[in-house]
Amino acid sequence: MDESTHNHADAAPEQATQSITSSASGTGIRTGAQYLEGLRDDREVWTEGKRIADVTREPSMMRGAQTLASFLDRQDEDTYRDTVTYLDDDGDRCATAYMIPKSKEDIAQRGRAYVQWARWSNGMFGRTPDYKNASLMAFAGATEFLAQGTKGQADFAGNMTTFYKLARKNDKVLTHTLVNPTFNFQQAASGKFSEKVALQVVKETDAGIIVNGARLLATLGPLADEIEVFPSTVLRATEDNIPFAFAFAIPIATPGLKLICRDTYDHGKSHFDAPLSSRYEEMDAVVVFENVFIPWERIFMYGEPHLCNQAFAATNAVVHMMHQVACGKLVKSEFLLGILCSIARASGRDKDLHTKGLIAEVMQMTETIRALLFSAEAQAHEDQHGNFIPLRGPLDTSRNLFPKFYPRMIEILQLIGSSSLMATPAEADFSNELGTDVEQYFQLTNMDSRDRVGLFRLAHDVAISGFGTRQALYERFFFGPPALIASGYYDLYDKDPLIDRVDALLNEA
Ligand SMILES: Cc1cc2nc3c(=O)[nH]c(=O)nc-3n(C[C@H](O)[C@H](O)[C@H](O)COP(=O)(O)OP(=O)(O)OC[C@H]3O[C@@H](n4cnc5c(N)ncnc54)[C@H](O)[C@@H]3O)c2cc1C
Repeated sequence: MDESTHNHADAAPEQATQSITSSASGTGIRTGAQYLEGLRDDREVWTEGKRIADVTREPSMMRGAQTLASFLDRQDEDTYRDTVTYLDDDGDRCATAYMIPKSKEDIAQRGRAYVQWARWSNGMFGRTPDYKNASLMAFAGATEFLAQGTKGQADFAGNMTTFYKLARKNDKVLTHTLVNPTFNFQQAASGKFSEKVALQVVKETDAGIIVNGARLLATLGPLADEIEVFPSTVLRATEDNIPFAFAFAIPIATPGLKLICRDTYDHGKSHFDAPLSSRYEEMDAVVVFENVFIPWERIFMYGEPHLCNQAFAATNAVVHMMHQVACGKLVKSEFLLGILCSIARASGRDKDLHTKGLIAEVMQMTETIRALLFSAEAQAHEDQHGNFIPLRGPLDTSRNLFPKFYPRMIEILQLIGSSSLMATPAEADFSNELGTDVEQYFQLTNMDSRDRVGLFRLAHDVAISGFGTRQALYERFFFGPPALIASGYYDLYDKDPLIDRVDALLNEA
């Protein structure tokens, strides 16, 4: 490690990162206005060649922030309060995803909360806070795992308990980044990271560590309060990987942390013209750490690749994340199905055998996710930490299937939508000199022109637009490299009884 490295914390390490204890005093859920106010800090966010001064006023991402703010407000509405919140031990109303489940009913309640959160965007705002809350809850419920850490100068388990409380009591919106950029595929596939690009520890002091490098990818990064920087799931337990082995969380506005965003998909269009991208731009960013100081109190794992490698599985964080994801994907599948059925009915194609067959395929995919979710919740059980978890197998099946299901659903929407996905005049065309033409020529047997154009603009935003294409990419990759996930699934599957049955037949006299 380079002792001479310049770092952003040299001047005043204690101020470089917000004190974890001083800010743990909230009382639960926040309003949208409080969330937006919290985003107005010194965060370093870049997009399309410029640094953004205030993400809440930046056209490329402010409507996504406003959408999330409106969801946070709904947490305290009568219709939703009992589903998406619970009273913690202090009597504070907190997000349900923070509730450490102690029964099968708690798992069911968590599922209902996930479904409700997803319904607010029909699954199109993928990274709602309940995803990360679920993971954090699992780590906080399994701190004995973190207590095994022996390196560094921190009480890792205590740090997690305090951070969980900070997040829960202040209704923090979190993002995370788990994956180092690949510099050389062969090197990456052998479980090693490149010193040129990967995030690594470059200095250790009595106050904390200094990290340098990059991570992929933080969805919602510019619109989050805090970022969890957790271990990559492919960290091999070798000496080489010690500088890459850590888990910590810091505010997005930490000095030296830069978010380099992709181009926006919110082009400022009306909700009619761009029903999804005008609402649900959640933004993804590569995260660059330029000698960022991380105080010990913000660190949960350090210098022990074998622990990092087990973390998500041993705490069951991955199971709770899969639960949130399955709920969201069910809602999203139902939404796509709704669009397909509307299109088929509008044109009378709901009488066509071929069309019905294609939509039935989407129905079957949707019902598969529903059945897997039901199976997982119905077989919820106590885990090794004394908490409840849904059964992993069905959820793991769902997370392996959905990256294949979703692109097929989009393909079916394209096959059924065909050229109508291009027959999409703008909202303004209904009131300009084209108005009469548009009213006349865009009608369908069961739908007037305005509704038809609205429906197909929605289908376009799902299946064709930059927003929609990014959604498909997200579904393929956001939970990790599909081949690795499938390989892990194979490893965990109970294969021996099946092999025994084959052996039994072959050995039958
Ligand atoms: C829209 C979108 C949003 C995302 N949001 C987030 C987010 O919020 N947070 C986050 O952390 N990530 C996020 N991701 C990143 C996602 O985790 C990665 O895309 C996914 O893990 C695949 O990694 P990769 O893209 O680097 O692909 P790859 O380079 O193919 O692989 C990634 C890793 O897998 C390993 N690997 C690949 N193949 C093998 C092999 N055969 N054997 C052993 N190891 C192998 C490599 O070591 C490498 O480290 C997002 C991705 C997308 C597309």
